[in-house]
Amino acid sequence: NEPPQTFKLLLIGNSSVGKSSLLVRFTDNDFLAEEDANATIGVDFKVKYIQIKDKRYKLSIWDTAGQERFRTLTSSYYRGAQGVILVYDFTNRESFDKLRVWFQELNTYSTSDAIKIIVGNKTDLDHHRKVSTDEAKSLAENYNAMFVECSAKLSTGVNDLFHDLVQKIIDTPSLHNPI
Ligand code: GDP
Ligand code: MG
Repeated sequence: NEPPQTFKLLLIGNSSVGKSSLLVRFTDNDFLAEEDANATIGVDFKVKYIQIKDKRYKLSIWDTAGQERFRTLTSSYYRGAQGVILVYDFTNRESFDKLRVWFQELNTYSTSDAIKIIVGNKTDLDHHRKVSTDEAKSLAENYNAMFVECSAKLSTGVNDLFHDLVQKIIDTPSLHNPI
Protein backbone atom coordinates (compact mmCIF):
# COMPACT_ATOMS: atom_id res chain seq x y z
CA ASN A 1 0.00 0.00 0.00
CA GLU A 2 1.98 2.96 -1.32
CA PRO A 3 1.42 6.42 0.13
CA PRO A 4 -0.50 8.59 -2.33
CA GLN A 5 1.36 10.84 -4.69
CA THR A 6 1.31 14.40 -3.35
CA PHE A 7 0.93 17.54 -5.39
CA LYS A 8 1.34 21.11 -4.22
CA LEU A 9 -1.09 23.60 -5.73
CA LEU A 10 -1.09 27.37 -5.24
CA LEU A 11 -3.72 30.06 -5.42
CA ILE A 12 -2.55 33.49 -6.51
CA GLY A 13 -4.24 36.66 -7.74
CA ASN A 14 -5.43 39.98 -6.43
CA SER A 15 -7.15 40.36 -3.10
CA SER A 16 -10.94 39.68 -3.09
CA VAL A 17 -11.10 37.74 -6.33
CA GLY A 18 -12.30 34.66 -4.42
CA LYS A 19 -9.19 32.54 -3.87
CA SER A 20 -10.15 31.47 -0.35
CA SER A 21 -13.74 30.92 -1.45
CA LEU A 22 -12.61 28.57 -4.23
CA LEU A 23 -10.49 26.64 -1.76
CA VAL A 24 -13.30 26.31 0.77
CA ARG A 25 -15.76 25.33 -1.96
CA PHE A 26 -13.44 22.61 -3.20
CA THR A 27 -12.31 21.22 0.17
CA ASP A 28 -15.45 21.69 2.30
CA ASN A 29 -18.17 22.27 -0.32
CA ASP A 30 -19.12 25.43 1.48
CA PHE A 31 -19.40 29.12 0.66
CA LEU A 32 -18.64 31.81 3.20
CA ALA A 33 -20.44 35.12 3.36
CA GLU A 34 -18.25 38.20 3.44
CA GLU A 35 -17.89 38.46 7.20
CA ASP A 36 -16.94 34.76 7.52
CA ALA A 37 -14.67 34.81 4.49
CA ASN A 38 -12.32 36.98 6.48
CA ALA A 39 -12.14 34.27 9.11
CA THR A 40 -10.28 32.05 6.64
CA ILE A 41 -7.45 34.56 6.58
CA GLY A 42 -4.44 32.98 8.18
CA VAL A 43 -4.92 29.57 6.61
CA ASP A 44 -1.67 28.38 5.08
CA PHE A 45 -2.88 25.39 3.14
CA LYS A 46 -5.55 22.73 3.10
CA VAL A 47 -5.17 19.07 2.31
CA LYS A 48 -7.62 17.17 0.18
CA TYR A 49 -7.50 13.63 -1.17
CA ILE A 50 -8.97 12.95 -4.55
CA GLN A 51 -9.48 9.87 -6.62
CA ILE A 52 -8.72 9.91 -10.34
CA LYS A 53 -9.02 6.69 -12.36
CA ASP A 54 -8.89 4.55 -9.18
CA LYS A 55 -5.73 6.17 -7.88
CA ARG A 56 -5.67 8.35 -4.82
CA TYR A 57 -3.79 11.65 -4.78
CA LYS A 58 -3.02 13.99 -1.91
CA LEU A 59 -3.32 17.68 -2.70
CA SER A 60 -1.89 20.39 -0.49
CA ILE A 61 -3.47 23.59 -1.70
CA TRP A 62 -1.83 26.80 -0.57
CA ASP A 63 -3.78 29.96 0.02
CA THR A 64 -2.48 33.37 1.00
CA ALA A 65 -3.26 34.94 4.35
CA GLY A 66 -3.84 38.35 2.82
CA GLN A 67 -0.19 39.03 1.90
CA GLU A 68 -1.18 39.33 -1.76
CA ARG A 69 -2.63 42.71 -0.86
CA PHE A 70 0.93 43.99 -0.45
CA ARG A 71 2.47 41.67 -3.05
CA THR A 72 4.72 40.12 -0.44
CA LEU A 73 4.39 36.44 -1.26
CA THR A 74 7.74 34.81 -0.67
CA SER A 75 9.71 32.28 -2.64
CA SER A 76 8.80 29.56 -0.14
CA TYR A 77 5.17 30.02 -1.09
CA TYR A 78 6.00 29.17 -4.69
CA ARG A 79 8.61 26.52 -4.06
CA GLY A 80 7.89 23.05 -5.37
CA ALA A 81 4.42 23.75 -6.73
CA GLN A 82 3.23 21.46 -9.51
CA GLY A 83 0.07 23.47 -10.21
CA VAL A 84 -0.72 27.17 -10.04
CA ILE A 85 -4.23 28.61 -10.05
CA LEU A 86 -4.26 32.26 -11.14
CA VAL A 87 -7.58 33.77 -10.16
CA TYR A 88 -9.27 36.97 -11.34
CA ASP A 89 -12.74 38.31 -10.65
CA PHE A 90 -14.55 38.60 -13.97
CA THR A 91 -16.51 41.60 -12.67
CA ASN A 92 -13.23 43.41 -11.92
CA ARG A 93 -11.11 44.51 -14.86
CA GLU A 94 -8.09 45.43 -12.77
CA SER A 95 -7.85 41.94 -11.30
CA PHE A 96 -7.60 40.56 -14.84
CA ASP A 97 -5.04 43.13 -16.01
CA LYS A 98 -2.86 42.33 -13.01
CA LEU A 99 -2.54 38.70 -14.07
CA ARG A 100 0.46 39.73 -16.18
CA VAL A 101 2.21 40.90 -13.03
CA TRP A 102 1.31 37.66 -11.25
CA PHE A 103 2.79 35.68 -14.15
CA GLN A 104 5.97 37.75 -13.87
CA GLU A 105 6.26 37.01 -10.19
CA LEU A 106 5.55 33.35 -10.81
CA ASN A 107 8.32 33.15 -13.40
CA THR A 108 10.74 34.84 -11.03
CA TYR A 109 10.08 32.44 -8.17
CA SER A 110 9.08 29.10 -9.57
CA THR A 111 11.83 26.86 -10.76
CA SER A 112 9.70 24.03 -12.07
CA ASP A 113 7.51 24.37 -15.13
CA ALA A 114 4.33 24.06 -13.12
CA ILE A 115 0.98 23.65 -14.87
CA LYS A 116 -0.95 26.92 -14.84
CA ILE A 117 -4.67 27.56 -15.01
CA ILE A 118 -6.31 30.97 -15.29
CA VAL A 119 -9.63 31.09 -13.46
CA GLY A 120 -12.29 33.75 -13.99
CA ASN A 121 -14.39 33.61 -10.84
CA LYS A 122 -17.85 35.03 -9.92
CA THR A 123 -19.70 34.02 -13.08
CA ASP A 124 -22.92 34.16 -11.05
CA LEU A 125 -22.64 37.96 -11.40
CA ASP A 126 -23.04 37.62 -15.16
CA HIS A 127 -24.55 41.06 -15.75
CA HIS A 128 -21.40 42.66 -14.25
CA ARG A 129 -18.97 40.90 -16.54
CA LYS A 130 -15.93 43.06 -17.40
CA VAL A 131 -13.74 40.50 -19.18
CA SER A 132 -14.81 38.55 -22.24
CA THR A 133 -14.18 34.84 -22.51
CA ASP A 134 -12.22 35.33 -25.75
CA GLU A 135 -9.90 37.85 -24.20
CA ALA A 136 -9.15 35.61 -21.24
CA LYS A 137 -8.62 32.64 -23.55
CA SER A 138 -6.07 34.51 -25.59
CA LEU A 139 -4.17 35.60 -22.48
CA ALA A 140 -4.12 31.96 -21.40
CA GLU A 141 -2.73 30.94 -24.80
CA ASN A 142 0.04 33.54 -24.53
CA TYR A 143 1.11 32.14 -21.18
CA ASN A 144 0.63 28.51 -22.08
CA ALA A 145 -2.02 28.17 -19.39
CA MET A 146 -5.37 26.43 -19.18
CA PHE A 147 -8.47 28.59 -18.75
CA VAL A 148 -11.87 28.23 -17.11
CA GLU A 149 -14.67 30.42 -15.75
CA CYS A 150 -16.39 29.43 -12.53
CA SER A 151 -18.42 30.51 -9.53
CA ALA A 152 -17.31 29.62 -6.01
CA LYS A 153 -20.69 30.85 -4.83
CA LEU A 154 -22.77 28.51 -7.01
CA SER A 155 -20.04 25.85 -7.17
CA THR A 156 -20.13 25.98 -10.98
CA GLY A 157 -16.94 24.64 -12.53
CA VAL A 158 -14.98 24.44 -9.29
CA ASN A 159 -14.50 20.67 -9.00
CA ASP A 160 -13.76 20.47 -12.70
CA LEU A 161 -11.02 23.05 -12.56
CA PHE A 162 -9.17 21.21 -9.81
CA HIS A 163 -9.63 17.87 -11.55
CA ASP A 164 -8.48 19.20 -14.92
CA LEU A 165 -5.42 20.75 -13.33
CA VAL A 166 -4.49 17.56 -11.47
CA GLN A 167 -5.12 15.46 -14.58
CA LYS A 168 -2.68 17.64 -16.52
CA ILE A 169 -0.10 17.26 -13.74
CA ILE A 170 -0.59 13.50 -13.82
CA ASP A 171 -0.03 13.58 -17.58
CA THR A 172 3.27 15.44 -17.10
CA PRO A 173 5.72 12.92 -15.61
CA SER A 174 8.53 15.48 -15.20
CA LEU A 175 6.47 17.07 -12.42
CA HIS A 176 6.09 13.93 -10.33
CA ASN A 177 7.90 13.50 -7.04
CA PRO A 178 9.57 10.17 -6.55
CA ILE A 179 7.52 8.31 -3.93
P1 GDP B 1 -9.65 36.32 -1.69
O1 GDP B 1 -9.23 37.61 -1.07
O2 GDP B 1 -9.13 36.20 -3.10
O3 GDP B 1 -9.32 35.11 -0.86
O4 GDP B 1 -11.24 36.37 -1.85
P2 GDP B 1 -12.37 35.78 -0.86
O5 GDP B 1 -12.52 34.31 -1.06
O6 GDP B 1 -12.12 36.26 0.52
O7 GDP B 1 -13.68 36.48 -1.49
C1 GDP B 1 -13.80 37.88 -1.56
C2 GDP B 1 -15.27 38.22 -1.60
O8 GDP B 1 -15.86 37.76 -2.81
C3 GDP B 1 -16.08 37.61 -0.45
O9 GDP B 1 -17.08 38.52 -0.05
C4 GDP B 1 -16.71 36.38 -1.10
O10 GDP B 1 -17.92 36.01 -0.47
C5 GDP B 1 -16.96 36.90 -2.53
N1 GDP B 1 -16.96 35.82 -3.53
C6 GDP B 1 -16.04 34.85 -3.69
N2 GDP B 1 -16.37 34.03 -4.72
C7 GDP B 1 -17.53 34.49 -5.23
C8 GDP B 1 -18.39 34.07 -6.31
O11 GDP B 1 -18.16 33.09 -7.02
N3 GDP B 1 -19.51 34.84 -6.54
C9 GDP B 1 -19.81 35.92 -5.77
N4 GDP B 1 -20.93 36.60 -6.08
N5 GDP B 1 -19.03 36.35 -4.74
C10 GDP B 1 -17.91 35.64 -4.47
MG1 MG C 1 -8.21 34.96 0.89
